[in-house]
Amino acid sequence: MFTSELSLDQRDAAIDSLGREDFDVLIIGGGVTGAGAALDAASRGLKVALVEARDIASGTSSRSSKLIHGGLRYLEQYDFKLVREALHEREMMVSSLSPHLVKPVGFLYPLHEKLKDRTYVGAGLALYDVLRGFQRALPWHKHMSQKKIAEIAPSLRQDIVTGAVKYYDAQVDDARHTMTIIRTARRHGATIATRVEVNQLIRDGKRVVGAEVVDTETGKKIKVSAKSVVMCAGIWSDEMHAKFGIKPGYGVTMSKGVHIVVPGSAIKSDTGIILKTAISVLFLIPWGDKWIVGTTDTPYDGDRAHPHATSEDVQYILDQANKVLDPKLKREEIIGVYAGLRPLVANAKDSSTTKLSREHTTDRSAPGFVSIAGGKYTTYRVMGKDAIDLAITDIRRVVAKSCTEKLPLVGADGYFALVQQRAQIATEYGLSEKSIEHLLNRYGSMISEVLDLIASDKKLSKPLSPDLDYLKAEIVYAVTHEGAMTVDDVISRRTRLAFEAPHAGINLVEEIATLIAPYLGWSAKDKKASIAQYRDQVDAEVKALEALVKA
Ligand SMILES: Cc1cc2nc3c(=O)[nH]c(=O)nc-3n(C[C@H](O)[C@H](O)[C@H](O)COP(=O)(O)OP(=O)(O)OC[C@H]3O[C@@H](n4cnc5c(N)ncnc54)[C@H](O)[C@@H]3O)c2cc1C
Repeated sequence: MFTSELSLDQRDAAIDSLGREDFDVLIIGGGVTGAGAALDAASRGLKVALVEARDIASGTSSRSSKLIHGGLRYLEQYDFKLVREALHEREMMVSSLSPHLVKPVGFLYPLHEKLKDRTYVGAGLALYDVLRGFQRALPWHKHMSQKKIAEIAPSLRQDIVTGAVKYYDAQVDDARHTMTIIRTARRHGATIATRVEVNQLIRDGKRVVGAEVVDTETGKKIKVSAKSVVMCAGIWSDEMHAKFGIKPGYGVTMSKGVHIVVPGSAIKSDTGIILKTAISVLFLIPWGDKWIVGTTDTPYDGDRAHPHATSEDVQYILDQANKVLDPKLKREEIIGVYAGLRPLVANAKDSSTTKLSREHTTDRSAPGFVSIAGGKYTTYRVMGKDAIDLAITDIRRVVAKSCTEKLPLVGADGYFALVQQRAQIATEYGLSEKSIEHLLNRYGSMISEVLDLIASDKKLSKPLSPDLDYLKAEIVYAVTHEGAMTVDDVISRRTRLAFEAPHAGINLVEEIATLIAPYLGWSAKDKKASIAQYRDQVDAEVKALEALVKA
């Protein structure tokens, strides 16, 4: 309790307690839904354990568009309740729950026709602004003339864009945010164990009373006792239900969404851009000094853990973006590509156990077993609450109400003050103000822990490489405090070098492995193996990307 650190020692202790203690709730899955459920349960005073088969956020929760949004397209479907709920979550995240991680981002909605288009889009965006209620952390939408567009977004084609409406949503580093929710759950007493996979449920008659898990690092099997098992397995839900012999009230299919990453110089615009496409929307999202552009929406039934983009996916994104861009995006400008899988929920016919909402589905298909799937990243907190509300049926004692609306994530406290003090902090630690800003936007008030590392070893104040904002201290911190256990964890999720750096950060693997090896107790052989694992993983991806660029 009270410490949020995720480390090797913490993992060992967590694995030990999994086999020894009786839990109220065992959560399967360390994506954003499982993270939200763990925090909800722990902060209600329940004894909770969360197990994740791989790394935190290694599934869909590190591969999204990274937007915290109400979902403009739901307005066209008149789903006002849904939009209002998501906008309420967005407001709380930006202003109090996680302001160090969730940042406002502006989008231009280009218009192609002067009067009708502007009236329709303007009315939609006014409604979008009204639905968030009275709290206003983000600016109101604004109409822009063609002349103004030419100033702020010179890359938009003047011959077809007649004006635009600018509105605001928010963006987040999804993997970092999910990890921060899990650290917050740990601070409130949750037992957290990654690389621990649930293999089977334990039953007493028809009632589920726990699960058999395996530590994938050692092969050790452990029986975990819990009054309620809550599965938050996203796209793995169908597979798990089948394995557990559970007949749920819904099924989960997968839809693939691909994003490309291009350098900042490829698109000249001070703000993001949203484009309406025939099937959905395409976002051009500023990401540091780069752009993330996507996404696609195609059915998928391949490898769940490693979805790949195809040449058609990339071509679709380029074609859609290039309808309005001048100069056009070129394949050879693409730095990175990533693919994610949406868990799409379909209700089973005649289900008596499923509560299906447009966005997410909760199901109690056996006594002691709850599952939740679908939804979107933005509403993770509501999903966590709904899952635990249902799990409480099996706890059989009075349980406090959810309080996560009033529970800022670790690092949020004092963030706004620290931003104002950044010049002093920079002087005290001999770092640039830009570095302090970078650290505050990743760690919030936990910056002190990263700075402690620097104070104890000055070498760690240096950037990982001259062209990157990441400091060496952050790489060490990823394993001492953020639960990273491999080179891949550090490159793909604690930092986002996998799509931010050229060649998926391959040139940095030696340096990263050397920095983390002592803290993970690695032998030379272990270090080599972790590097090789990452190289093998990206080899296929880089080859695929090169093929895409050449295609
Ligand atoms: C391309 C794309 C773009 C998106 N963009 C947005 C966006 O901009 N905004 C937004 O709000 N939403 C967005 N979403 C949706 C959002 O990303 C997902 O709804 C959300 O991340 C799903 O989280 P999850 O925790 O349910 O699933 P996951 O993140 O996949 O987590 C499930 C976890 O369960 C673990 N697991 C599975 N089986 C087991 C087992 N047996 N034992 C232990 N662990 C197990 C997996 O390893 C995995 O980590 C997007 C989705 C996609 C694909």
